[in-house]
Amino acid sequence: MKKKVVVLVAHDAKKKDMIEWAEFNKLTLSKFELWATRTTGSVVIDKIGLEVNLLLSGPHGGDSQIGTMIAEGKADMVIFFWDPLSPQPHDVDVKALLRLSVLYDVPIACNRKTADFIISSPLLNHM
Ligand code: PGA
Repeated sequence: MKKKVVVLVAHDAKKKDMIEWAEFNKLTLSKFELWATRTTGSVVIDKIGLEVNLLLSGPHGGDSQIGTMIAEGKADMVIFFWDPLSPQPHDVDVKALLRLSVLYDVPIACNRKTADFIISSPLLNHM
């Protein structure tokens, strides 16, 4: 059976959160096909050793690529630790990603507690 796809994205101020979260959930995450924006994915590969497919960096189109994956039914879950305290040059791409995840009913966690709930949900086995 094809592995479900989890996409990871963290803005710079949230990369530490992502590393800690991914480290804690390493075993569970290893059962999924992982994709990530370039810098986030590189950090997860280097620090945690998980296998991650790299998209473009977020500000260079990575968030738009995730939006496309969602629209094409190629993303099953998104963990998106965005930074609510800093303006982002690619804010429109971020908004589009969030909009598409709602439109296509793709689970998206925008903070660690929500990510904890999603990753530990019994519904994971029925996706
Ligand atoms: P990055 O992109 O992983 O390449 O830093 C994340 C983002 O800013 O959306």
